[in-house]
Amino acid sequence: MIIALFGPPGSGKGTQAKFLIKNLNIPQLSTGDMLRESIRGGTSTGLEAKKFMDQGKLVPDEVMIGLIRDRIALQDCKNGFLLDGFPRTVAQAQALDDMFDSASLKLDHVISLLVSRKELVGRLSGRLVCSKCGASFHEISKPTKLAGICDVCGADVSKRADDRAEVVEARLETFTASTKPVEEYYRAKGKLREVDAQGSEMQVYQRITSVFGGALKG
Ligand code: AMP
Repeated sequence: MIIALFGPPGSGKGTQAKFLIKNLNIPQLSTGDMLRESIRGGTSTGLEAKKFMDQGKLVPDEVMIGLIRDRIALQDCKNGFLLDGFPRTVAQAQALDDMFDSASLKLDHVISLLVSRKELVGRLSGRLVCSKCGASFHEISKPTKLAGICDVCGADVSKRADDRAEVVEARLETFTASTKPVEEYYRAKGKLREVDAQGSEMQVYQRITSVFGGALKG
């Protein structure tokens, strides 16, 4: 099964990805996580990417396409994978189609998570993320049991650098201008499945699993 989770920043891609990969037993390919890992490791890709991420802009297509091409060639992707945060431009979507064509692979579903702008801003402004396992919390609606400590793995949680109000605005603009057209690209191919992503995490997850027509345990 190859799935892409699509949606604006704060729509719950990371949270829903964690549920889905557990159920489907496939790896989560989060390009945002890969870039943050490169930044922590001080690699040249990380240093280059940081300049764009700090401004809420997209990292250039050729960097991202190379990153995903290398990642999906790894052994753990042989039985499928979940794309979280890729593709984010039509050029990335086209490059992905080319990669899949040459490897005789097929993208099964693109799940688009729909959330109002007001709700997105509220979610991002209070978001806390675990530095180690990536679990996501919220200062008000989903606080950690112990302040500053991840409920899942016990590592530190903190605000993401790009969840500052001014960067959030830029990221939402970037989504509308560059990423939203990707939705049309997949709609035209009959692959887009839109899901109302407001409500509890479990409600949203159940709506997503219903897209698979019972192929998931739920
Ligand atoms: P995310 O964790 O998915 O919100 O991504 C954080 C940031 O990483 C984005 O705001 C972009 O700057 C960058 N990024 C992640 N994925 C991509 C992508 N597919 N194309 C370009 N930039 C990306």
